[in-house]
This record gives sequence, structure tokens and C-alpha cells, in this order.
Amino acid sequence: MSLPVNTAYITHPANRSNRKRTETRYLVLHETVSNADARRQLNYFNTGDRGANCHVFIDWKEVLVTLPLDEVGWHVGPKANAFTEGVELCRAANAADFKKQWDGAVEWFTYRCQVYGRGTDMILSHHEVGKKFGGTDHTDPDEYFAMFGKTVNDFRNAVAAELAKNTAPAASLKIAPDAAREAILQMQSLTRTADKDARIAYNYAANAARKGAQITVEQVLGVPQREDAERVCDILGDLWHLTDRADVRVAYSVMADALRDATGLPH
Ligand SMILES: [Zn+2]
Repeated sequence: MSLPVNTAYITHPANRSNRKRTETRYLVLHETVSNADARRQLNYFNTGDRGANCHVFIDWKEVLVTLPLDEVGWHVGPKANAFTEGVELCRAANAADFKKQWDGAVEWFTYRCQVYGRGTDMILSHHEVGKKFGGTDHTDPDEYFAMFGKTVNDFRNAVAAELAKNTAPAASLKIAPDAAREAILQMQSLTRTADKDARIAYNYAANAARKGAQITVEQVLGVPQREDAERVCDILGDLWHLTDRADVRVAYSVMADALRDATGLPH
């Protein structure tokens, strides 16, 4: 993947609902109308009562997850906030940065559609959400996309092309090294007492995370047996539910996908 996924949640209590969202009908595409990068956006939401927030900010350097993805966000009207996950694109200053952001955003939305088992009918612009459910009269990101010769339909088509490849969810995502280390550590702490065969599966999964984060792969013990891979996939599934860090979840998904691919288990 072009951009790493990082997590740094908004800390200002006034900008957090702290309520779980129980339904996700749509992924909403926004644009910030500002050249500030994702970290500056995060800083803005950490330093005052903004009465708003968003789940993810994507600039030309990273995909920054700023809210637990299942928390109720405040990025569209009160009605649609209850069943949407929002992504803000920071405004790129040139075509090269826009291209990096576009590719990263296509990969992120592909990943989220795969997680929800949905197609691109799940993706709406803020403009489209406003027309459908009211609440705001914003028209983003139409104007921003037009600056670079793109439309929201172009974006959906790009995601559809990725979905058609039918790759494993998260396979194209780049893991943040810190998230890979955290995921490996959690997994290892649960598997210290494992037998030799299972250790091959743990080792295989850990190395998949290292590869995804572009950190040095450790000694490879071999390809796991199918039943061992299945056991470790179950453990990874449990660990996935135990963390609310999106970047660590991506690492767990990459690990499980690698085990399934290596042993022919279905995704
Ligand atoms: Zn918006």
C-alpha cells in the first residue's frame, strides 16, 4: 500500500461521543477545505471544543485513524451520524500529493468495504449524504476532486476495480511498524506455551506482519500445517476484538490472511 495506517485518537473530551455505533450503512467521503495535514487536523480537534470530529483523516503521508471506527462520529447531520463512518481528505497542494492521497484513500475504502462485505454502493460523498438525509448543505469533496479532474463516481469506480481483484481484506494495506510490533507482542504473550507445530504458525504470522510493516523478517521456521494455522487464526480473531486500535487490527488481519493463503484456508 502507498500509505501507512496509523492510530492517534482525538483526546479532547468535547470532541468525542464515546458511544458505540451499532449500524454502518455508509462510508462518507469528505474534504477538509484546508491544506493542513492529518496531524495538524488532529491537533485542531485536540485543542478546543469543535463540536465535530471524523473517524479518519487521509493526507499524502498517512491514513490517520482518529476515532475508534465503531464510535458514533460527528461529521454529517445528527441523523446520518448514527449509521456512517467518515473519512476526511486533507487538501493536497499539488498533483503528486493528490495522487498519493487518492491511491491511499482507494485502498482504505476498499479495505472498509471488504470488512463490511459490501460494494461501492456503501460509499457516499458528504454532498450525497446531505441530499439524502439532510443535516448539512456541504458539497464536499466535489470541488476538491474537480481541481484534479476527478469525480466521486471516479472514486467509486476505482474502489470497484480494487474490489473486483478479490484480494484478502487488508492485504494491500501497509502496517505501521509500531502496530506490527504491538500485534506480534500480544500474539506472542498468548502463545508462549505453544507446542512446536503451533510455533511455526505463530512465527509465520509474525513474519507476515513484519513484512507488511517493512521491518526485518526474523528466521522463518517453515510453512504451518492447516490445523495449526486455523488455531492461530482463531486467536488472531480474538485479539482483533480485544483491541480498538485500527492499526493493530490491520496487523492482525494481515497475519490471519497470510496464514490462510499459505494453507488454503478460506477467507
Ligand atoms: Zn464534509
